[in-house]
Amino acid sequence: MHRRRRSRSEFLKQEQVPPVGRNDKLFVRVQDEFGDRGTVMIVAMQDGAKDDQIQNVVEQLVKMGFAVHRTTGVRQTILAAVGARHDFDMRDLEVLPGVQEVYRVSAPYKLAGRSFRPEGTIVNLPHGVKIGGKEVVVMAGPCSVEGRESFFKAAEIVKNAGAKGVRGGAFKPRSSPYSFQGMGEEGLKIMREAGDKYGLVVVSEVMEISQIPLMITYVDVLQVGARNMQNFNLLRELGKIRKPVLLKRGIAATLEELLLSAEYIMAGGNYDVILCERGIRTFETYTRNTMDISAIPVIKKLSHLPMTGDPSHGTGRRDKVPPMARASVAAGADALLIEVHQDPEHALSDGAQSLFPQQFEDLMKELRLIAPIVGRTM
Ligand code: PEP
Ligand code: MN
Repeated sequence: MHRRRRSRSEFLKQEQVPPVGRNDKLFVRVQDEFGDRGTVMIVAMQDGAKDDQIQNVVEQLVKMGFAVHRTTGVRQTILAAVGARHDFDMRDLEVLPGVQEVYRVSAPYKLAGRSFRPEGTIVNLPHGVKIGGKEVVVMAGPCSVEGRESFFKAAEIVKNAGAKGVRGGAFKPRSSPYSFQGMGEEGLKIMREAGDKYGLVVVSEVMEISQIPLMITYVDVLQVGARNMQNFNLLRELGKIRKPVLLKRGIAATLEELLLSAEYIMAGGNYDVILCERGIRTFETYTRNTMDISAIPVIKKLSHLPMTGDPSHGTGRRDKVPPMARASVAAGADALLIEVHQDPEHALSDGAQSLFPQQFEDLMKELRLIAPIVGRTM
């Protein structure tokens, strides 16, 4: 029987949750009622904080909908707050008089968090391809679709080497407005035909909301690029469709921000989100970006969503791509996104980081050796 979900305040009132005191069972009840862990927070008061300051913090927490457990030490008081609320600003508490530090114990995302689906998410794609299962899936191809003949050649190369998906940009987010901007719909048509001919999953980037209806008719996975990771309007629209989304980490985004962006898509009902580490900006200038390999095991722990490594944008140099691809698989990546070009020296974008066909073939052979060592197949 469907029961109307109670609001937070109704819940607290009807369950007679005492505002202050021991609430051992509250945690479980919040979980039952709201289908997630709610929010668990610790507020550490300053050494020697005054009692009225402590009382004020308790009142604020209660007003925000939390039940509070107070532990009074000889010098320091600790407040543990449990509640169903996700949408609040921790700084509102941090600035209260007498507060030393506020720690959020539970994550601010719920659908993207591991506990939502402890067994992990498998994203099902055409041709029986599954991302997030035992098999490591490789999606490869040029940075941009440059023409029919060259893209078909690229698709043939990646297919023969054992990749399951072909990538290519039809709409390109270029740092300079004078650089090649992509072939648009013509590029999408070419990708679809090549994908059908070689039995490959087609992956391409969507840059704005108006492109979504067009793109879903041609591609199997919509990529959201690093520059759009926090384009929340775009993410919200992608939550309304029923096509997998490959969400790339922004160049200065924390992993929590990446998961909150995934949450935007999932909140709309589209749970087929694949995450991607593609390098972040650090003080190092030798490589284009710094490939954060540790993001892979961290995401696999925090989230049930499949995780991809993109060593091409991660390093920006083709000689560094194979080692970082090997490292990604060893670190537990579910998929790889790699730039390959039949003639990288004449590529219209990202030639320097695109592998030569032979390099890609050699890399695939190495990856097939590494995968079983970490319990995966390829
Ligand atoms: C790409 O995949 O070609 C691309 C532009 O990626 P990113 O958004 O990671 O720069
Ligand atoms: Mn590129």
